[in-house]
Amino acid sequence: MTHIAVAGASLAGVRVAEALRNKGFEGDITLIGDEDMLPYDRPPLSKTILTDAAPTAIPTFHELDWYRDNNIELRLGVPASSLSPERREVETANGTVSYDQLVIATGARARNPFADAPVGVHTLRTFDDAQALRADITAGSRVVIIGGGFIGLEVAASARTLGADVTVVELAPIPLSRNLGADVAPLIAQTAIDHGVQLICERSVTELVGSPRIRQIVLDNGERIDADVVVIGVGAAPNTEWLAGSGLTISAAGVVCDGFGRAGRGIWAVGDVSAWTDADGVPRRHEHWTSAAEQAKVVAHNIIGSDEPRRAMAADYVWSDQFGRRINIVGDTTRHDGIRFISSDRENLAALYSFEGILVGACVIGQARLMLKCRNWIAQGTAISEIPEWNAARAEAAP
Ligand code: FAD
Repeated sequence: MTHIAVAGASLAGVRVAEALRNKGFEGDITLIGDEDMLPYDRPPLSKTILTDAAPTAIPTFHELDWYRDNNIELRLGVPASSLSPERREVETANGTVSYDQLVIATGARARNPFADAPVGVHTLRTFDDAQALRADITAGSRVVIIGGGFIGLEVAASARTLGADVTVVELAPIPLSRNLGADVAPLIAQTAIDHGVQLICERSVTELVGSPRIRQIVLDNGERIDADVVVIGVGAAPNTEWLAGSGLTISAAGVVCDGFGRAGRGIWAVGDVSAWTDADGVPRRHEHWTSAAEQAKVVAHNIIGSDEPRRAMAADYVWSDQFGRRINIVGDTTRHDGIRFISSDRENLAALYSFEGILVGACVIGQARLMLKCRNWIAQGTAISEIPEWNAARAEAAP
């Protein structure tokens, strides 16, 4: 095997290249990326990049020298436009890249249901997006965030730090209720309210009004809200269009892979573009930083093939920084039949989720040791009957 091409030069793509070199792969590696800057990390985009007073540097993974020193060819500013698995070739705007093994790592893009939105309406996925948003938010500006997911609430927290008036419009009865359930989500929402965020739930936005600049948003009950800045945070769509006609299986979740990350002969997919088949046989997209990094390492291992093939880790981990606190979520907190609170103090929260007698998820704020314990319990599929903390915990959040 002499040449591994990686399409998509961000977290997952860079981590594949790193892991291949760390494992002693000496063949050629080409990283193809459509952004024209050195590969960089996204979590700071909704956090420090928005709030830092000084102009912020791009949060790159490595300087240019690192790619040179590791003999990784960078083709940046060049989207992969099509794939021929038969010829083992990726087509790009400036030529064909032949490969022996291909890793698809083209990630996802922010969804935007509003075509031709007025000036002042933002999505947040790239460094340029973050710079543009940062330039638009000033103290006292009226910021409306459409979507109370993790990114929406992080932007709400950052905008409050900048002194903006912030309103979050959310379709669900409570932000994050789909992620954390109806018992835990209100505790997170209350913190946002305590920090001055106005929450409007069970409402959608039907119209953005203003030309050329945004002036108002219109809700589905006809109510109008004044806005200087609007941030659309309604999820992400996998970047799979360039794979049309390749014969790979593509679903709404992304490039469908087996449990080892394999999408086709000599073709693998990792990170936000991929839908790995979980232990229950269902392909799912795990849109988190840690999953992308872990899948990249697993695929590098499986490509080199010196050992037993590996699967991705058993328990997801995602963090979200909001209003000065880090919310840690381990495993699956979306599907449970039991919940217990070790603590329902909002600064020191620990909620455990069970399904059919097994600990499947946890939401923890400010308790690092407990969080690690939860990760181990969940990864090992521990029965709740064997967890003393579960048995001692309350079934309801303390009032
Ligand atoms: P991406 O980061 O989307 O990278 C894919 C790359 O491929 C991009 O550079 C893209 O431009 C490029 N590309 C797309 N199409 C093509 C093509 N045809 N040819 C070549 N290149 C292409 N996760 C957490 O767990 N915690 C957090 O706090 C957190 N915060 C976040 C904050 C923000 C603002 C965002 C956007 C995400 C956050 N995430 C967080 C999620 C995390 O950053 C992603 O899961 C991670 O970036 C996925 O990495 P990836 O490499 O798979 O995809």
